[in-house]
Amino acid sequence: MTLHELDRAYLWHPFTPMREWLADPPLVIERAEGTELIDTDGRRYLDGVSSLWVNVHGHAHPAINAAIAEQLGKVAHTTLLGLASTPSILLAEKLVALAPPGLSRVFFSDSGSTAVEVALKISFQFQQLRGFAHRTKFLALHNAYHGDTIGSVSLGGIDTFHRIFQPLLFHTLHVNPTIDELQQAFASHGNELAAFVLEPLVQGAAGILLSPPGFLREARSLCHKHGVLLIADEVATAFGRTGTMFACQQEGVTPDLLALAKGLSGGYLPVAATMATDEVFHQFLGLPEERLTFFHGHSFGGNALGCAAALASLELFEREQTLASLPSKIAALRARLDEKISPLPQVFEIRQKGLMVGIDLRRSPSRPYYPEEAIGARVCQIVRRHGVILRPLGSVVVLMPPLSITFDQIDRLVDATAAAIAEATSESLPTRPAPLSIPPQASAAPAPLRGIFLIGTDTGVGKTTVGVALLTLARARGLAPVPFKPVETGAAPDPEDALRLRSAARCNALPREIICPYAFYPPVAPALAAEQASTHLTLADILSAARRAAAHGDFLLVESAGGVLSPYSDNLTSADLAAALGLPILLVARNALGTINHTALAIAELRRRHLPLTGVVFVNTTPVATLDRAHNPRLVRALTGVRVLGVLPFLALPTPDALAAALRLNVDVDVLLASPR
Ligand SMILES: *Cc1c(COP(=O)(O)O)cnc(C)c1O
Repeated sequence: MTLHELDRAYLWHPFTPMREWLADPPLVIERAEGTELIDTDGRRYLDGVSSLWVNVHGHAHPAINAAIAEQLGKVAHTTLLGLASTPSILLAEKLVALAPPGLSRVFFSDSGSTAVEVALKISFQFQQLRGFAHRTKFLALHNAYHGDTIGSVSLGGIDTFHRIFQPLLFHTLHVNPTIDELQQAFASHGNELAAFVLEPLVQGAAGILLSPPGFLREARSLCHKHGVLLIADEVATAFGRTGTMFACQQEGVTPDLLALAKGLSGGYLPVAATMATDEVFHQFLGLPEERLTFFHGHSFGGNALGCAAALASLELFEREQTLASLPSKIAALRARLDEKISPLPQVFEIRQKGLMVGIDLRRSPSRPYYPEEAIGARVCQIVRRHGVILRPLGSVVVLMPPLSITFDQIDRLVDATAAAIAEATSESLPTRPAPLSIPPQASAAPAPLRGIFLIGTDTGVGKTTVGVALLTLARARGLAPVPFKPVETGAAPDPEDALRLRSAARCNALPREIICPYAFYPPVAPALAAEQASTHLTLADILSAARRAAAHGDFLLVESAGGVLSPYSDNLTSADLAAALGLPILLVARNALGTINHTALAIAELRRRHLPLTGVVFVNTTPVATLDRAHNPRLVRALTGVRVLGVLPFLALPTPDALAAALRLNVDVDVLLASPR
């Protein structure tokens, strides 16, 4: 059998849809020199993503090769459990000298995932040992990626990768990378948190998303203030990737724990490290019977060959003045991107930090490429013909060359990428609306919306009543709220709910079609009502209607039809709409028998989709006070851990003002009105 056949017969490739893989002959790399990979036919390719973000000084660098060979002549591996070894000691010393001041201990493992896993377990145990047994939760960023082991996946927020494992994961809180949201999260959860985990400056696998300046520093100060450990995952960003040795240095921040891997050995061997401060380390010192020991370790932690490679790589930083060479390369890359890639029509945005680049492709600013169009993968397939290896993140084309890339190679890399993007985006593409594919993350939206998205646990649970109360309160607080009810069924002939909302918001001057673009007569699910009217509801149409409505005020209150999975069309539900709009969600539940199950199921689905749920409001929809009513909120809270914001009482005369007063008295409304995204 040929190598191609053997690969297809025996290998299972990571992060690879194997069915498609088996359809094409694989590209087999045999050797490499510097920034070039060479395949079994002798063809050369520029390594445009540093062999998945790991390579630093180029491949087969004589100095690193020699260091590994020299160590190999002595010993390849000995354990760090109960024994010490020369290269691991020297590497630890070196890392402490280079890292942000205060990180003084090094725990070795073998991958980015384990480095994060170690940091998680250390922070958890640290809080337990300090006597903060209740600090058991972790906070992470939306769209976070911290590795593929179960602990690191629990922190993760990338739906495609993580959704299926949901039942195995521990619950993690997520925030968007904005200072406001972070402050809010700490204000509400600061005392339950063991640690806040983040990728400083750039969220890599999320699509090269840049955090706002000052965010890291604010994270540092909030963690200090609330007794929460700060874990910086610099697996991708360290070792010059963002222009400095560590990304944390750009905001003068020392985290309590720092996870390192990818570039640590120059990208040659699997070495990872978790660095800790004295304060953290000292908590683990004590007599054996005190049981303070950190019981964790990997067979190959501190591997001698890997540590020797890492030492050689760090020496090269000094010898070749690697960091000093970066500013001009970063600038050259930026200039070439501006010149060659920015003008391409399907390039929505270029995000660059140092030598990390994400080129975000869209069909049009408001219309992303859907996953099945595989636009990123097509660009990367085409760019191979131009002698470049890339790997995309969805519709984001990533450039992440070794730091040793030359100016000529920067031009080659960008020019080849530009040609491939032009070719891939000009092909006629299969189209199928796939609503789930619009990321809720901010950079997608033309303008960030402010507002709230009401979802019910069922139909007839009091959503409109809550909507009327909220709109009235919002007005009283000086906002200019606009309601949006994309579809109302059972309109006979007027959409009464939408009109109630419009009148509560005092925007009667707005045409009904702005508030409620689709009104149907039969009182059935929107998908069926639309079908009966020979109409097809699409996400794109509803989104543009939402933006049109939003333009008439400063706070959009969206009332979705029915429950979380009520269908608008065959492949569009309330939950998809919520995901696309990205607004914080308020779940409205009927306070009556059966609500615990309904509410818990709705919450489970919202969580599965990583949607930002602010809390639950119960509504007493009848005056009959049954025994369960007083206890439902508590039981739902205990079962789901979600905040119950309050119970809206039954009003015999539900005028907007009376509803607003009742809501203000019984429900924690501040979190709803004061939490724009
Ligand atoms: C790649 C990566 C990881 C996981 O590292 P592995 O070595 O693949 O386990 C963790 N965190 C970040 C930020 C990464 O980019």
